[in-house]
Amino acid sequence: MLSSNFLNLEADIEMINNSEADWFHLDVMDGRFVPNITFGMPIIAQMKKKAKKTLDVHLMIVEPEKYIEDFAKAGADILSVHIEASTHLHRSLQVIKANGMKAGIAINPHTPVSLLADVITDTDVVCMMSVNPGFGGQKFIPNTMQKIRDLKSIITQRGASTLIEIDGGVTLDNAADLLRAGADVLVAGNTVFSSPDPADTIKKLKAIEK
Ligand code: ZN
Repeated sequence: MLSSNFLNLEADIEMINNSEADWFHLDVMDGRFVPNITFGMPIIAQMKKKAKKTLDVHLMIVEPEKYIEDFAKAGADILSVHIEASTHLHRSLQVIKANGMKAGIAINPHTPVSLLADVITDTDVVCMMSVNPGFGGQKFIPNTMQKIRDLKSIITQRGASTLIEIDGGVTLDNAADLLRAGADVLVAGNTVFSSPDPADTIKKLKAIEK
């Protein structure tokens, strides 16, 4: 939703409701963990009233553990905290689940996926940043492909059922390779919203097979 038109959010929400997309992906930025500031709980609570699909909330904020309950109340279905912003990551995952949400970990391009091994069975979704977080419309970082394969083998080795979500620079051109490498969920903000027919672009993305 970072790429949507905030003055006409309802129209974009309706488009997603009527499209083949599965989730709404909401990037919350605080101007500290990342340079940008986006939106917080009040906007999410408003979106929750209109959105008919899963709200996947990606917190790009420092001290995310302070706000877990607030985002649950706002209507988040999935809540991802950054590994780089979480001193007590395992505890945060537990608190997210205790508040009735699926627990996600977001990971920056420079952070090795091996750091996720000991919490992977407690994690529903890994949101892998494939651009540097903080701005929409950036170019995909190619090393992400290897990171997906490495993470997939950790998930398999540990017997986890964690979904791999790719966030940033997803296009109609690289989507098939991402799925083949092991991705389960693709976040496509700019690709969808900058296209002439967003619903059709979603349809094309959904039609791509591994
Ligand atoms: Zn995101």
